[in-house]
Amino acid sequence: MSLVVQKFGGTSVADADRIRAVADHVARTRRTGEDVVVVVSAMGKTTDELVRLAEDVSRVRPGRELDMLYTAGERISMALLCMALAERACPAASFTGSQAGIITDTLHTKARILEVKGDRLRAALAEGIVPVVAGFQGVSFTRDVTTLGRGGSDTTAVALAAALGAQRCEIYTDVSGVFSADPRVVPSARKVPKISFGEMLEIAATGGRVLALRSVEFARNHHVPLIVRSSFTWEPGTTITEEDSDMEQAVVSAITHDISQAKLTLTGVADRPGIAASLFRHLADKAVNVDMIVQNVSRSGTTDISITVPRDDLALSREVALSLKDELGADDVVADEDVATVSLVGAGMRTHPGVTATMFETLASENINIEMISTSPIRISCMVRAELAERAVQLLHRAFELDSPT
Ligand code: ADP
Ligand code: ASP
Ligand code: MG
Repeated sequence: MSLVVQKFGGTSVADADRIRAVADHVARTRRTGEDVVVVVSAMGKTTDELVRLAEDVSRVRPGRELDMLYTAGERISMALLCMALAERACPAASFTGSQAGIITDTLHTKARILEVKGDRLRAALAEGIVPVVAGFQGVSFTRDVTTLGRGGSDTTAVALAAALGAQRCEIYTDVSGVFSADPRVVPSARKVPKISFGEMLEIAATGGRVLALRSVEFARNHHVPLIVRSSFTWEPGTTITEEDSDMEQAVVSAITHDISQAKLTLTGVADRPGIAASLFRHLADKAVNVDMIVQNVSRSGTTDISITVPRDDLALSREVALSLKDELGADDVVADEDVATVSLVGAGMRTHPGVTATMFETLASENINIEMISTSPIRISCMVRAELAERAVQLLHRAFELDSPT
């Protein structure tokens, strides 16, 4: 029998009515003769509330205990959904990440999946039971509960789809697909019916949080077809597919913005081999992901290095940089949180010169200063002041004629 993994995000299971609507949909899918594995997120803003609660209780928050706390959110929604399914005569059983056999490394709050055993899920399916799995969690090889980073339920869903050989993975959320920009920022944004993994990776990496980055990486590496749909309207959504040569390549598919990054600048650093290597090795050892890097032209043997890091890792990164200040010969370490990146993503950019020029002109026309730039073959990202990011997205969306016709 064919198998589909259906994942429901926080807003999709936010209250009793939403959980019942999800149960109706799962039962309906099951009646079409397909096997279903369900992955759920915590209800509504539960995870945000747990994060806040921990911050209110203590300044010292061991990762192991944070994960024990955070994993509670998904347990609530999975049990409730199973009850709603039982009422619909659709036999279902809930499984924590650990029970589902999602084995991770030991990096609390941002663990990586190492292996998906899934034996209990296969056994449940064989008995005609719908497994309902708690998203965003696993168990480390040292047998502690772990979480996969915010938005990690998407990754759980794709990892299960790959491990169980599902035909597709459907991600149900509160928008009807992937749009040309966050519809909350650009109400006239268009739904993209089909998009390549390459573009979706860039969108996810630059702030389009509709899919977690790791879930897209996983789907691409394991050839899992991904579909993003609405659990409110159930209309056809966006299909994310392998690149195919006759797919029409939009010059610009989406404009994204990301306010979760911060800038760290080391000034007056000695300009000699090994300096950057040392800084980046120490940051990597603390699992800090550096995104943009700018090193100025050396003036009289010294240079400035600016990097962007996740805002949550800024304090840690600053500590690392300060501890290396003497070794690197740096004058100062300056942290700046009031920044955001704005990016253009589009596979057609490769063959269309002038996209960068139009982007810069558009930002310049409203006096939006560009502080850092980074590019890939199908993306251009500019760092701007945080308070100008949404305006920049709206301007670029219009400049690249992405507004929907209505
Ligand atoms: P869930 O709880 O279902 O995982 P998320 O909040 O993680 O939902 O992701 C859905 C949200 O992603 C949407 O409400 C939307 O505001 C945001 N979003 C950002 N960029 C995009 C985009 N390009 N297309 C669609 N949604 C986007
Ligand atoms: N509940 C978790 C979060 O809010 C995981 C998820 O929803 O994907 O980040
Ligand atoms: Mg999400």
